[in-house]
Amino acid sequence: MDLIVNSLYSNRDVFLRELVSNASDALDKIRLMAVQDAKEYETGTDLEIRIKADKEAKTIVIEDTGVGLTREELVNTLGTIAKSGTAKFMEAMKEKHDANLIGQFGVGFYSAFLVADRVTVQTKSNKDDKQWQWESAAGAHSYTIREDAAGDIKRGTRITLHLKPDAMEFADANKLQSLIKQYSEFISFPIKLWVSSS
Ligand code: ADP
Ligand code: MG
Repeated sequence: MDLIVNSLYSNRDVFLRELVSNASDALDKIRLMAVQDAKEYETGTDLEIRIKADKEAKTIVIEDTGVGLTREELVNTLGTIAKSGTAKFMEAMKEKHDANLIGQFGVGFYSAFLVADRVTVQTKSNKDDKQWQWESAAGAHSYTIREDAAGDIKRGTRITLHLKPDAMEFADANKLQSLIKQYSEFISFPIKLWVSSS
């Protein structure tokens, strides 16, 4: 998997589309739940995606107010991506070296590791009292999950990408803005991009 991820270097900017599309899916889910049970909606959060680049911290943060993940869901989704989609994805990649395949095989989250050497996921589900932190510095081959003392998320998911030294170009609001335009035109939730004053 690492070899493949690295071979996708040339169009690694698909990471943003994949993470925004996951955020949008999570927002769709909470919207659907709200139709069935209005209580799900009573969290005082707007349905939106927030993206922030921080050159100093060398991070990109992608945050949504979607459905979030329980501890169990973290284990069953981000913890098993490697097993589920990877084999089929690798087969397809042998035929065609195309980063766009990443999303088609249910391994979209992995694309975070195209630009990040460490990925932190903080998440709070409306089905779980606790906020959790998932972290991996190994392409999700191994990861840690712990209760997140920050406890600052009402509902949803915050993904922090600790950028690789050679991916610093992405810690730039203009760059992110053009990628959002290019890839996420049809996302039906507001995408708020933070621009730092420095
Ligand atoms: P896919 O989107 O095709 O299911 P991904 O690798 O992109 O595959 O994501 C794997 C799973 O991780 C998703 O199906 C979802 O359950 C979970 N996930 C990823 N990002 C988020 C998010 N921002 N909020 C909630 N769940 C998420
Ligand atoms: Mg996805």
